[in-house]
Parts: sequence; structure tokens; C-alpha cells
Amino acid sequence: MTIQVFGLPVARGIAIGKAVLVASSRLDVDHYFIDADQVEAEIGRLREARDLVARELESLKQAMPGDAPPELGALLDVHLMLLHDESLTSATKQWIRDRHYNAEWALSAQLEVLARQFDEMDDDYLRERKADIEQVVERLLRALARGGSSALAAATRKPIQQDWGGEEPLVLIANDIAPADMLQFKQSVFKGFVTDVGGKTSHTAIVARSMDIPAVVGAREASRLIRQDDWVIIDGDAGVVIVDPSPIVLEEYRFRQRQSELERERLARLRHTPSVTLDGEAVELLANIELPQDAPAALRAGAAGVGLFRSEFLFMNRDGELPGEDEQFEAYRAAVQAMDGLPVTIRTVDIGADKPLDRMSLSELRHEHTLNPALGLRAIRWSLSEPAMFRMQLRAILRASAYGKVRLLIPMLAHASEIRQTFEALARAKQQLRDAGTPFADVEVGAMIEVPAAALTIPLFVRHFDFVSLGTNDLIQYTLAIDRADESVSYLYDPWHPAVLRLIHDTIRAARQAGKGVSVCGEMAGDPSFTPLLLAMGLRSFSMHPSQIAAVKQRILRSDTAKLAQMLDAALACDDPQECYRPFMGEAAQLH
Ligand code: PEP
Ligand code: MG
Repeated sequence: MTIQVFGLPVARGIAIGKAVLVASSRLDVDHYFIDADQVEAEIGRLREARDLVARELESLKQAMPGDAPPELGALLDVHLMLLHDESLTSATKQWIRDRHYNAEWALSAQLEVLARQFDEMDDDYLRERKADIEQVVERLLRALARGGSSALAAATRKPIQQDWGGEEPLVLIANDIAPADMLQFKQSVFKGFVTDVGGKTSHTAIVARSMDIPAVVGAREASRLIRQDDWVIIDGDAGVVIVDPSPIVLEEYRFRQRQSELERERLARLRHTPSVTLDGEAVELLANIELPQDAPAALRAGAAGVGLFRSEFLFMNRDGELPGEDEQFEAYRAAVQAMDGLPVTIRTVDIGADKPLDRMSLSELRHEHTLNPALGLRAIRWSLSEPAMFRMQLRAILRASAYGKVRLLIPMLAHASEIRQTFEALARAKQQLRDAGTPFADVEVGAMIEVPAAALTIPLFVRHFDFVSLGTNDLIQYTLAIDRADESVSYLYDPWHPAVLRLIHDTIRAARQAGKGVSVCGEMAGDPSFTPLLLAMGLRSFSMHPSQIAAVKQRILRSDTAKLAQMLDAALACDDPQECYRPFMGEAAQLH
């Protein structure tokens, strides 16, 4: 039966594929494809793990003291029985044979299927057996980890970076994916993503968007309603997920998919076209990246440089061990060299809020932190609370500046004292490098304007910094008091709110009047529906995911900034967001 699930559109286009359900708690399980000739070896790994767990359970039973409650022995028997149950063993082997999943992935895929069956049982006793099967799978995963990957598989493993040999496209469905976990799915085999939770500008959504494949977040019930292997259509334009579509619906979406691919190909031809408006205003289009490996995509899209390198992704999922100075330096240098002389703006770590250092999903964050992490020890606050760590990062960034044009960007500043401490730390880092005779070049320093307090005291920032970059994702969150990662209030997350527009406008104007560079690097910059408005406000530098550059450029090529500027006063004076929007949509329509 066809069902539709509604969520928030995150990344454009249509994806059609078979659902791969991944539980949030299992996202750190290895997911990779094996070659056809490795299937038997992989099944062998699974068998060894099963024998190991069986021996463990047997010896636990033997070692049980005589006065142990009898239920304990019965429980171990249940676990032993489940371990050998066909529904777990045969079906898991089937995932390995048919899909070429590695053993860990096959096990977690099968666990999803079984967990669903248990959930649907009427009998309370049987329903509770779900916990047992989870424990057995947990033991098996641990046994597999102890055994390591098979030598052959390890040597030729195809992480998710390669296309699998199968014919059917796959789409990933999860309750929640932490930003760091999302990273491991970059350039993956998956043709689309759906998550139950998350707002449009949550960091999970941002990483999904950077992958340039259709995605829907905040789809609430999706992972409960969709089953392993269901056919799914993800409409990333409308934020709709269609499960088990009829042949007619499928055909309609295949047609739309082809149309949208043609449109992409057409847009890609703009790559070498200079980004200049109808009235001759040049507009700089920069890229947002998460890892140095993203730099080639930025170049391919025709970016004029990197406007935001979110360095915190280098710091995540390291079990408490943060990257040292040399490791960071190598990563920054790699990005700088990959950009081949174009500027690279490296933002110091923005850890905290929905980007914890440890792997943690949004749901876990919500449960673990009763206080509000978005208002807590985040970004520059975290860096200033870890002065040695901060100086180490500054030294690593400065060292990379000897290999190309580097700009330093500081997130989430609000206080004059933070500005002072930041420059003190920078001066000390430079002195340490000079003392050691380590070369570095002149580096421009910029401030992210993403807290309303900073936007309202913008003269202070343009006095101290060489440039400012508007982080509209957070600016909107903090101005409207809407958690950007919370889908339940996402309907109130409104970039067109007059308060937001005024803060953006005043920041751009103040920076331009002071002769300082100003850019927008929040998601607004990559959304072509905001391009006319931002141009009208005087913005001439936009930083976005590489995949968005062509669409924004197309809007720029069709815009007349002088005409747009005339409509700005009306937009800024109106109270109703819908009304503010209209004059700019009129302009867009008129230009099409
Ligand atoms: C922003 O807040 O707009 C921004 C670019 O930073 P991040 O999304 O990483 O918080
Ligand atoms: Mg931000």
C-alpha cells in the first residue's frame, strides 16, 4: 500500500531506491560492500563470530553459581537459541550474498527487520524478546570486531565511497544521523536520505546537502513506517517521501527525475561563466566545505575559493583524542593546496550544540542535556575555555598559510572580551611560531556574525576584524529563539522575519561602509530564492555548498542590482514575512 510521509526538504531532486534502514545506534557499525568473490569469506567471518558467541554463552552458563536465579540460565538458553535461529542466521547471510553487505552491516540490517516484527507482536512477552535479539546481535558485532575484518575484505573493502555492483539504487532511512556519522556517508552509494528528526539547517541537514543528493529531514515517522527493502521515492524539492509507490506514480517521478537531471546538466554549463549581474556587478561565489577532500568539488563547481571550512569535523568521533597540531596542519594545508592559489577561509572549531565531540545523535543529545546546548559552551566559547587547544589550532592554521592564501574565521563571537582574548591568543600563537622559526604568512582575520548581539554591535566587529561573515543559520536561530535542529518548531524558523532581515541588512551596510569584506555563509547564501534580496542589500560575496553555486549564479546573471535595491526599502519596512517576500518574487518572475 502506498503511503506518503511529509518532512522538510533539504537537498533538491528526486531519488528512487530501495530502503536501507539503519538504526541511529548502529551508525558507527562499518558499512561497506564486499566483492562477489569475498562473499564466502565474509560468511565465514559471521560463522566464526557466531561460534565465538556460542562458546561465550556456554561458558557463562557453566560458570553460573548454583544459587543463581533459574531465570538467568533460561535467558542464556534463549540467547543461544536466537543465535542459531534461521531468522537471524540465514537472513543475515542472504544480505551478504544478495547485497554484498559486509557482515556487520548485514547483521544490523537483519536486526532492523526482526526488531520491527517484534514491535508488531500483540503478545507482551514476545514483544519484549526484542531486547534479547538486540543483545545477541550486540555480542555478534563485538565478536566480529575482535576478529577484525577479513584480510581480503580489509584490503579491498569498498566503503561507501564506491558504487556497489548491484542494480537497484539504495536510499538510507534513519531515525536520526549525527553530523559526524553523516560524514561517513559522503560520496556513498546511497542515492538519497530520510531522517525522522532534524531541522532544515541542522548540521545533519547541512552535511546531507553537501552530498548533493535528495534528502528529507524531520519526517517524524519515516523510519517506523518504512521497512527494509521497501521501494521509496524521496522528493527533495517538496519534502515528501512516497513509500511503495504505484507504477503510475513511479513513472511520473522517473520523468521528473530525468527533468531535474537535465536541469542540472544545463546549470553545470555555467561553471566558467563569470558571476556578474545584468548591471555589471561582480559577485564572488565561494564554497563551504567540511573536509579537505571536499575541495576538488568546490573547484569543479567554479568556486572562487572556500568561504567556510568547518574545521570541527576534523575533531569529531575521535574517542576523546583530539587532532594534534601536525595532523591539523596537514589537513589545512591539503585544503589550501587543493584550492590551488584560491583563498581558503578556515573557521576555528565550532564544537557544541548539535555538533558534540563524541558521536551522539540529536535524540541522544536531547535526552542527555537537559540544559540548552545551543546556548552553552560552543564555538569560540569552547576554544577560549581550552586555551592550549585554541593556540594549537591557530598555529596549525597559520602554518598552512605558508602554502597559499589562508583566512581565519572565528565563530559565535558576541563580547568585546572574546574579541580581545582571541587576538591575544593569535598574537601568542604567532610568537610561538616565530620563536620556533616556523614560517607563516599574513592572515586576514574575520568574525562570524551569528549572534544578534554581534549584529547589533557591528561597528565593534568591523573595527577589529578584516572581514565579517554572516552565519545566518545561527543568526536566525538565536534571533527567533528557534532551535535550528528541532523539527517540531521548524515552521517558525523564518529567514524572512523582519527582525532577521534588519540584522542582515545592517551588518552588510556597516561592513561595506567601513570598507570591510562581508559575506554570507549560512544556508541562505545557497538558496536562490534569497539571492535577489541579498543582492539588494549590497551583498557581493556568497559562500555555499559547491552543488548550489550554479543555481545561485543563474539567479545572479538574471538580476539587476539597481532595480532590486529600489525594492529593498519596502521589504524592510513591512511587518509580514509573506509581504516582504513578494516584491522579490515579482522581480524573479519578471526576470525569468
Ligand atoms: C551559520 O550559523 O550560519 C554557519 C554558517 O555556521 P554553522 O552552520 O556551522 O553553525
Ligand atoms: Mg553557526
